[in-house]
Amino acid sequence: MRSATAAIVTVAMPSSTAMASAVSSTCGRLRSGPRCCARCRGRGVFGGTAPCRGRTAESLPMTSNISAPRSRFLLVSRGEDQLPTSANNNATFMHETARGAEMTETLFNPKTYDFAEFDAETRRILRAVVDWFEARGKARLKQDDRDRVWYSEFLDFVKRERVFATFLTPAALANGDPNKRWDTARIAMLSKILGFYGMSYWYVWQVSILGLGPIWQSDNTAAKQRAAALLDSGEIFAFGLSEKAHGADVYSTDMVLEPLADGGFHATGGKHYIGNGNLAGLVSVFGRRADKPIIDSAKALEGKPAQEDYAGYLFFVADSKHPAYKLLRNVVDSQMYVAAFDLENYPVAEADILHRGEAAFHAAMNTVNVGKFNLGFGAVGACEHAFYEAITHAENRILFGHRVTEFPQVRSLLTDSYARLVAMKLYSERAIDYMRSAHAEDRRYLLFNAIEKMTVTRQGQRIIEDLADVIAARGFENDMYFPMAMLGLFGLPRLEGTVHVNMALSLKFMANYMFHPADAGLAALRYLPGAGSAPKGAVRAAAGALSWTSRGLASRAGAAVPKLATELKRAEYEHIPTRRDAADDEFLFHQGPSSGLGRIRFADWRPVFEKFAHIPNVALFLEQARAFQTLLAAASPTREQQRDVDFLFAIGELFTMLPYAQLILEQAEIEHTDPAVIDQIFDIFIREFAKHALTLHAKPTATQAQQHRALDLIRRPVADSARFANVLGRARAHAGAYEMNP
Ligand SMILES: Cc1cc2nc3c(=O)[nH]c(=O)nc-3n(C[C@H](O)[C@H](O)[C@H](O)COP(=O)(O)OP(=O)(O)OC[C@H]3O[C@@H](n4cnc5c(N)ncnc54)[C@H](O)[C@@H]3O)c2cc1C
Repeated sequence: MRSATAAIVTVAMPSSTAMASAVSSTCGRLRSGPRCCARCRGRGVFGGTAPCRGRTAESLPMTSNISAPRSRFLLVSRGEDQLPTSANNNATFMHETARGAEMTETLFNPKTYDFAEFDAETRRILRAVVDWFEARGKARLKQDDRDRVWYSEFLDFVKRERVFATFLTPAALANGDPNKRWDTARIAMLSKILGFYGMSYWYVWQVSILGLGPIWQSDNTAAKQRAAALLDSGEIFAFGLSEKAHGADVYSTDMVLEPLADGGFHATGGKHYIGNGNLAGLVSVFGRRADKPIIDSAKALEGKPAQEDYAGYLFFVADSKHPAYKLLRNVVDSQMYVAAFDLENYPVAEADILHRGEAAFHAAMNTVNVGKFNLGFGAVGACEHAFYEAITHAENRILFGHRVTEFPQVRSLLTDSYARLVAMKLYSERAIDYMRSAHAEDRRYLLFNAIEKMTVTRQGQRIIEDLADVIAARGFENDMYFPMAMLGLFGLPRLEGTVHVNMALSLKFMANYMFHPADAGLAALRYLPGAGSAPKGAVRAAAGALSWTSRGLASRAGAAVPKLATELKRAEYEHIPTRRDAADDEFLFHQGPSSGLGRIRFADWRPVFEKFAHIPNVALFLEQARAFQTLLAAASPTREQQRDVDFLFAIGELFTMLPYAQLILEQAEIEHTDPAVIDQIFDIFIREFAKHALTLHAKPTATQAQQHRALDLIRRPVADSARFANVLGRARAHAGAYEMNP
């Protein structure tokens, strides 16, 4: 059992106006800071009991306490809460449900956060990383960024404190070190910290993760031990997949391996955009044999290639210091080194080969699956730092006799930005649990991971854009972290698979996610005459009835139809607990074929939303989601549309909001997130859903039925000025709460 800890941070509130707005919407009694009292928790406003009585906003002091993250753990013996085999720990630590209530609603403050959810060594390392940046200070951080200084001092620190060695060595290669394991929760936390201080620092870590991916997945024990030893001695790693001519079309690699008569190969070809390619102890390189076939990528999008078409692919390790490894240049203007390099008759021994044939291809995809998860956490960290800077500046700047935070458009921008950021954090926290609990029969993480990459980073980009509108010129000054966040957040959605590539991936899950096997009746909607063009009310009634009856009758139908029973069984999952336990996530290196995505089943999403239907904007969003389900049933994309990425993108924007919202609600339940904040998050979601619906309606290729049904998705969020003021107050309460050491 770990101990409970609680830290209180004193935050100077710049104005009583801010605080007044923070509380006026809830019960008027404060336990700590802008939070409503424990008994009321905002329910006085949001559909619960009568508001409690107490101090009024006016009587509040000018300083307030914001509760810092507080963590408590509950040791649960194996049994009902037993984890899948991938979590090979002897006991499961589950967060007590109260845990994290403050964590997500209060932005991450590295100076005060205690990392209490982790074990002692993890806490020590995370604290050491924060202290390293804070001791170095902001002026130096900015100077090194400006001068594009290679971060050798940071890497010396990483080596000294065994940061990468401890966090990136799987338990199987730990060689007796009890602290080494591949633990997605602490990897995510470090990704967030590095994003908080600078995306360049995040990048050197991120590409080391990618470089290690094909190695840890390999059966080549000698290569794995070599990598573990290099990691232990403080080396960094690189992932050599991209080529200048081919971009996302990795099928068409021109890194060619000529077989040698006495075994092994000579590799010749170029790689482009390879992070750490200047210094990596090992570079995992993807290439093809000269004597075997590879896929014709021009046909690859038509259907799944045959297994023999993969025969030529190879993954091998190269040493960046070898004379046949020709480092050409850094292709970006940055502290980070994104290399172009050539191999010229580079000798590849059998001992250097990691994967052959189709396995090499899967290793590439599965590595990206592991790596791209961190992009969302880098984005969260960067946005949190940028938010502190923006809110502190705006709160203290007086124009025309007003604080900038009091201008109406700024109030909207800040409230939305804060709610978006809390949503990103809620989603990401819950996505960790699905990643860590994944196993061969539960691959839902593949969807949640694509959304972590694509949606969380794009939400982050939106936050930075909105905050830039709030602070205007200040966002460009050279003593601000903000410009680093602007560049970083512009890059994250576009790298390691563009948004379009991740959207195409996500769409493969749409049918199974949207329609639970019990929805067979709802699918019948498409056969109802006129379902595409009938009035909204009639279609909604028919869809509701079909959905209700088919869900209600699922067990009886399953008993009668064996195939449906199997389908229903496949959509049943054990509850996924919170996963911050000290387990080794070894399944991530045994993910198996990257294909078969259409067979992955999802649990019914509706009950998660129904639990929160007392919150007005969640109820409205659920209506939109149901209408979208009806659209898909009554006016599904035609065969032609299913090949049109532009059209599908509009559908994908709508679809991916559902799993995003689902995990947010799941985490909100765990953390007891304040209903006011949830309501504000869903206010944003309703607007965005309506916007995407209009985009779909306007697509030139949309059928009449799709145009019609798309308009059914448009709703107006429930406005609530008290709730808005409450959330704005929470955002403003972060002014002055964190400032990096000078
Ligand atoms: C700073 C930085 C660091 C990087 N680090 C690494 C690294 O360490 N290792 C590494 O291997 N790579 C790395 N990359 C490469 C990065 O992963 C690629 O940029 C990315 O895979 C996309 O390739 P591309 O940029 O060449 O775009 P392209 O592949 O040229 O894509 C161009 C456009 O075509 C679209 N498109 C592509 N395929 C399809 C499709 N099937 N259907 C519809 N649209 C499609 C894309 O969405 C995009 O809009 C890095 C890049 C940068 C800029």
